[in-house]
Amino acid sequence: MDDASSAPDIAGNLAGVRARIDEAARAAGRSPADIALVAVAKTHGPDAVRAAFANGQRVFGENRVQEAQAKYPPLRTERPDLELHLIGPLQTNKVREAVALFDVIETVDRLKLAAALAAEIDKTGRRPRCFVQINTGEEPQKAGVMPADADAFVAEARKKFDLPIDGLMCIPPLADEPALHFALLREIARRNGLTALSMGMSGDFETAIRFGATHVRIGTAIFGER
Ligand SMILES: *Cc1c(COP(=O)(O)O)cnc(C)c1O
Repeated sequence: MDDASSAPDIAGNLAGVRARIDEAARAAGRSPADIALVAVAKTHGPDAVRAAFANGQRVFGENRVQEAQAKYPPLRTERPDLELHLIGPLQTNKVREAVALFDVIETVDRLKLAAALAAEIDKTGRRPRCFVQINTGEEPQKAGVMPADADAFVAEARKKFDLPIDGLMCIPPLADEPALHFALLREIARRNGLTALSMGMSGDFETAIRFGATHVRIGTAIFGER
């Protein structure tokens, strides 16, 4: 939570990020309108979200259910057209809260979680979009479905649970060339008929756009260091 003396220039940062998205889209022969900017506000207080909203930002990302629960209910009342994405791990005991709060859940990564989400959606009628997180780097400590299991996972989550899956997300290993991971994610999406691709963060979003990202998740470049 920034104090006034070190407050980042959120309006200026947002304008800069948007200009870079536009430029990367044009360079790739894509329409900037096809790329959603997910402003990742984790660790920043509600006033940072308000500042971004006042500058035209509507889509926000959070990586912890509990933090989002504390932050967004009042913001949602103020700003009904705010769209909220969960981009961090989801435990099955938080599924009820997540379905109530988020519009997009980007981190579906286990059949047990898919089943719990489907049951909650059935019960409440609230139907957040779901993306499957793919562990493109096959890192043991990282969440996500292994690339080799992705097709079967998507098929089962759809067929067995009727989960509204329409996208994929990945977080490439820090040390790797991200383009390889973005290309892999795009290929898995293509063969499974998934249209949304959530990939690219502050350090690599232009590359992600070149590889077809429809959602870029950007925190630091907008809100400053955490
Ligand atoms: C924090 C986070 C981001 C944003 O990262 P920056 O480098 O600050 O842009 C994107 N995706 C996920 C999953 C995150 O946890």
